[in-house]
Amino acid sequence: LSERLSGILDKLTGRGALSEADVNEAMREVRRALIEADVALPVVRSFTDKVRSRAVGADVVKSITPGQMVIKIVHDQLVEMLGSDADPIDINAPAPVAIMMVGLQGSGKTTTTAKIARRLTMRDKRKVLMASLDTRRPAAQEQLKVLGEQNSVDTLPIVAGQGPVEIARRAIQAARLGGYDVVMLDTAGRIHIDESLMLEMAEVKAATNPHEILLVADSLTGQDAVNLATSFDERVGITGIVLTRMDGDGRGGAALSMRAVTGKPVKLIGTGEKSDALEDFHPRRIADRILGMGDIVSLVEKAAEAIDAEKAAKMAAKLQKGNFDLEDLADQLKQMEKLGGMSGMMSMLPGISKFKKQMDAANIDERMFKRQIAIIQSMTPVERRKPDILKASRKKRIASGSGVDVAEVNKLLKMHRQMADVMKMMGKNKGMLGKMMGAL
Ligand code: GDP
Ligand code: MG
Repeated sequence: LSERLSGILDKLTGRGALSEADVNEAMREVRRALIEADVALPVVRSFTDKVRSRAVGADVVKSITPGQMVIKIVHDQLVEMLGSDADPIDINAPAPVAIMMVGLQGSGKTTTTAKIARRLTMRDKRKVLMASLDTRRPAAQEQLKVLGEQNSVDTLPIVAGQGPVEIARRAIQAARLGGYDVVMLDTAGRIHIDESLMLEMAEVKAATNPHEILLVADSLTGQDAVNLATSFDERVGITGIVLTRMDGDGRGGAALSMRAVTGKPVKLIGTGEKSDALEDFHPRRIADRILGMGDIVSLVEKAAEAIDAEKAAKMAAKLQKGNFDLEDLADQLKQMEKLGGMSGMMSMLPGISKFKKQMDAANIDERMFKRQIAIIQSMTPVERRKPDILKASRKKRIASGSGVDVAEVNKLLKMHRQMADVMKMMGKNKGMLGKMMGAL
């Protein structure tokens, strides 16, 4: 655990809701941790503002400390801002699909061009042509040619004396004639962002109409990340980001900076010099790395489990009193959806086969969870607490609100009634219920 954040764990010891003072104290440490991880200042500021508004007043569940709670909120917010799902390269367009690689000199454009071409060729069975438009650096075109030979990917024959736009046009033409699926355009960089680079990129783009324009950036890029990403996005228009050298010491704060200022997804990360060192971007992993703690994952997961356990305990208490309403059912459905289905889970519990049969009889099936949750969400709070008031007209409204037939609403209500009965019966057997709710 990074020292800064472990400080938060010790400092915050109060109970109940997180106070503004607690959160402000914690945010000072979070800010430092993010700056150390190379997150750009304006992004740090907007990030901590978001966390602050989410954290102040949040209930601290009994089983975890306020410090753990804050760290969980920080981690969740980070994952959310980094983008929640892996976002692959899109080659869904008429062939030949042009992918243009842009970025500063030495960021890893040529290496990444070959990595992506290799992946598209070997894994996705696409026919790929690579072309180097780098006429500035001596031997840049040869570098790509060698990489092509090593990875069995074709490269556009080198013709001396041509400029970048001319080469780009020739590449598209050759890809068309040669029946290639994808043509990768590896452009020249500059040491700094300058006007000539931006003009050149805009010209190449206009001549080739690329389907993807990927900004390649070193994961060690610090405060420059904002300027870098905004310039390329405003002047050229990028569709995604590739973060290179993630095998090094870089903490990857640039991912957060660039994503935050452009809204464009980080699609891939480079993890080595070899052509197979390319990985999909996983927001969760980068979030752990930015926070500087491998063990944050387990900590956060423990915290999340604790939150669920507390919910489960509350629910068990409620059930013992014999009131299991539709609100509770919705909670259960969400949990089950998360756990990957009820039957698997039920079969893990001893002495539950009878209950499982009830469930099967009620026709509970994973794929229905989402729809069932939607039905409950279309009800008013009163309806959820007192399903008895649901007569024909209300049911009709709920059905149309959630996009199902009235029959399905009826089925859900019947299932709820059956579950409530079973729960009541089991509530009398406290040991068993406790065990079951604990497992949920
Ligand atoms: P370009 O100027 O943007 O085309 O950059 P290059 O592709 O020529 O890469 C510059 C240097 O960075 C080369 O020595 C590469 O081997 C190295 N490089 C590129 N990507 C990675 C990476 O993900 N990890 C490591 N360790 N080195 C990389
Ligand atoms: Mg290059």
